[in-house]
Amino acid sequence: SQAGPRSEYLYKEALQHIVGGVNSPSRSFKAVGGGAPIFMKRGQGAYFWDEDGKKYIDYLAAYGPIILGHAHPHVTAAICRAAENGTLFGAPTELEITFAQMLKAAIPSLDKVRFVNSGTEAVMTTIRVARAFTGRSKIIKFAGCYHGHSDLVLVAAGSGPSTLGIPDSAGVPPSIASEVITVPYNDIEALKEALDRWGDEIAAVMIEPIVGNFGMVMPIPGYLEQLCAATRSNGSLVIYDEVITAFRFHYGSAQTFDGLQAASLSAIEPDLTALGKIIGGGLPIGAYGGRKEIMEQVAPLGPAYQAGTMAGNPASISAGIACLEALQEPGLYDRLNALAASLEAGLAQAARKHGIALTINRIRGSLSTHFCDHPVSNYDEAQDTDGEQFARFFRLMLEQGICLAPSKYEAWFMTAAHTETDITATIAAAEHAFAVMAANR
Ligand code: PMP
Repeated sequence: SQAGPRSEYLYKEALQHIVGGVNSPSRSFKAVGGGAPIFMKRGQGAYFWDEDGKKYIDYLAAYGPIILGHAHPHVTAAICRAAENGTLFGAPTELEITFAQMLKAAIPSLDKVRFVNSGTEAVMTTIRVARAFTGRSKIIKFAGCYHGHSDLVLVAAGSGPSTLGIPDSAGVPPSIASEVITVPYNDIEALKEALDRWGDEIAAVMIEPIVGNFGMVMPIPGYLEQLCAATRSNGSLVIYDEVITAFRFHYGSAQTFDGLQAASLSAIEPDLTALGKIIGGGLPIGAYGGRKEIMEQVAPLGPAYQAGTMAGNPASISAGIACLEALQEPGLYDRLNALAASLEAGLAQAARKHGIALTINRIRGSLSTHFCDHPVSNYDEAQDTDGEQFARFFRLMLEQGICLAPSKYEAWFMTAAHTETDITATIAAAEHAFAVMAANR
């Protein structure tokens, strides 16, 4: 295993007290052959150090939030200030208004927002609000998109396109699964078929407008426009899960990303949006928002209930404000883009040199590496890649101090702290990994 003796020891200890030794299954190494995950001790900028003192270049970025790098001084100062002033009041603060204004300015479809504590909560609540507003109960979602761990969105595709779902987790009752229809991403006909079939039962269509959960996948040109039009003409709401994508590619969200080349912003504007990850600057957060008349369904104005002891807490909000402030640095997103472009070019060249089949999906500063020789534009294609090859690559990179997510579906995230030197080192490590993989074929 790549884990040093102290990680091995801590893993054994953790297993005694914490289920599976981890507090989120994505942190376990189960998908890459098992064994002890690496226990981290400290992070600074683009690096973290494990419990055995080994340094890693971090492309995991904590599954997305750490876009500024670890312990960014502006965010750290904001968190310290919040801690000194009291972390929780159970009463509103001005900080929440400031942050709501910042989000609204960056994402114009948000007339009103509400802060919660995680992406899961944000998504879960958009569904409740959509149901309250439409008086309908079913939702349509897309195969391979992940929307957190609430019951409704832990329902997978049944057999064939546009069939009712089957629970993806024990404990999700079949009655819940019967409320969910799963269709393939980037397939407008499958969506239209499902809308036709279930018509006025559909409260909402829930989508990652740009996918981050089976690699980085762009909607094909025109797809989101057609999705929004078909959904609206069915009287259903469009919900964008932008937990990964908001503030990822530019200072704004996928719905305002010019890389989508939408005919007009209004053609791809959702009714509701779920946010999380980056907007918390590394502290727990979620948010949801959208059209005023829909958001007015929420208590205390309307009949849809949602609450939270920790919601909008000053520490998370302060970290979020500081993070968005730092992200406004001119040229920051272009720098992430340039770094990722260098990395993409280097990885592609190294793979070619050693005859390794590799498809790289890159969107600005994020990319995903798929061990296959076909494009990846939907979940079927993402599944049809070589997981064992990925696991070998993952471990060879880890050995050389390059940390990726332990899953073939996850992206590599550039942070504002990465440098060309890191990219050069990473490409050299990948070249070595590919050479070893080619020799062992
Ligand atoms: N939606 C998307 C698109 C996500 O990627 C995630 C988390 N990876 C979530 C929702 C859930 O967010 P959280 O883990 O904060 O509950």
